Amino acid sequence: MSTCVNLSQAQTDHGDFIERVRKMSDQDVRKCYQCGKCSAGCPVHNCNGMDVSPNRIMRMVQLGMEEEVLKTKTIWVCVVCSTCTARCPRDIDIGRVMDGLRIMAYKKNYLQYAKNATDFHQTFFNNIATFGRAYEMAFAIGLTLKTGYMFGILDLAPATLLKGNLPFFPSKLKNSRQIKEIVENIKRMEGEK
Ligand code: SF4
Ligand code: SF4
Repeated sequence: MSTCVNLSQAQTDHGDFIERVRKMSDQDVRKCYQCGKCSAGCPVHNCNGMDVSPNRIMRMVQLGMEEEVLKTKTIWVCVVCSTCTARCPRDIDIGRVMDGLRIMAYKKNYLQYAKNATDFHQTFFNNIATFGRAYEMAFAIGLTLKTGYMFGILDLAPATLLKGNLPFFPSKLKNSRQIKEIVENIKRMEGEK
């Protein structure tokens, strides 16, 4: 009897997770039949950057393995390049699923692999909020101060400066007030969640 109860509960949890992923990403992971084409084409997976392949993430979502999925490194290192989406015979936008899973993991505070990603996003958001568009010099300095990681920037900065892609001063933007309003709206909506 207790096995029946547990099984029934497991099925509810399982269905519940797929449904929440569907609502979050607007993608139905149930359609995945595990052909593996997403993983075969994924540039991050193919350079060993993921701990779980994209098709296995889909299967784990189907099985309701919420905790395990939300604690993977994979969902944070997916760069949403959409290569997998273009290859998927079931028309699943896997990048959007990964986006949804990231939001779910963020809300649950499962951030063990996310520090660099959240530092990047917060620094970028603050950059846009302050200057109205990306101001690379401030972004590079801000990210270096936040992460303490400066070797990547030191590597790239000379060539980028020479090409004129790292201006010392921010460019002027018309309608910067509208950008600030958008930022204020986003902050207000986040506060309401
Ligand atoms: S969107 Fe993510 S999972 Fe898909 S191929 Fe690109 S990096 Fe890989
Ligand atoms: S390509 Fe699509 S159907 Fe095939 S394993 Fe990946 S998500 Fe599933």
